[in-house]
Amino acid sequence: MPVLHSSGDHAVHYFRDLTPKGAVQANQYAVVDSGEAMLLDPGGRLVFKRLLGEAGRAFPIGRLRAVFVSHQDPDVVAALPSWVLVAGDVRVYAPAAWTRFLPHMFSERPEWDFVVEVPDEGSEIPLGKVTLRAIPAHFLHSAANFSLYDPESKILFSGDVGASIIPPEEDSDFAGDFESHLRYMEGFHRRYMASSRACRRWVSLVRELDVEVIAPQHGAIIRGRDNVQRFLDWLEGLECGVDLL
Ligand code: FE
Repeated sequence: MPVLHSSGDHAVHYFRDLTPKGAVQANQYAVVDSGEAMLLDPGGRLVFKRLLGEAGRAFPIGRLRAVFVSHQDPDVVAALPSWVLVAGDVRVYAPAAWTRFLPHMFSERPEWDFVVEVPDEGSEIPLGKVTLRAIPAHFLHSAANFSLYDPESKILFSGDVGASIIPPEEDSDFAGDFESHLRYMEGFHRRYMASSRACRRWVSLVRELDVEVIAPQHGAIIRGRDNVQRFLDWLEGLECGVDLL
């Protein structure tokens, strides 16, 4: 299982090739700190078994304490009932505006105490000895949407922001030259991101953080401060969504 960051008791794992052909490629991530693990946007039923196997090589599944879902799309949440079942003692952090919809995925489990609502303004999420931060990313693309910042690794898990749709034969784990990577991002962002106002708001929040890596839910990972800055500059000026309606 590839490692994006490792220092002392802290590690970040990524899984980029678990999606079968015919479905949009999706990345999954795991943050492990001091023996406690969190899965981010663990994906749908299509990848559940494979991710369970791969994640199990990164940390004991019994140490899975948290699942963070950035928004409500099927490629993010569809396997939640299975994760809750295998993990047992786990909390699901989800945007507050979406939590009332999630019970529709479960056939049983009337007590809903394992869900932690992330309020619109964001929140701090403890894991092991670190505190991760949910950063508002509303309308990018979902009406209630969060990125997650890991101050230890300086990785921003950006959800659909920064996503790229890359043909399999051109795929690689990390974005290369930023100018040529743009063509894989542009169409997706123009169609799915709600508006330039929403983009600018997110960029201003992210500029307050110390970010070395932007790890999106789809496509290549954007690595290095220069590339991160180029991405923020590009997104800040992008016309998208209702701007183009
Ligand atoms: Fe989505």
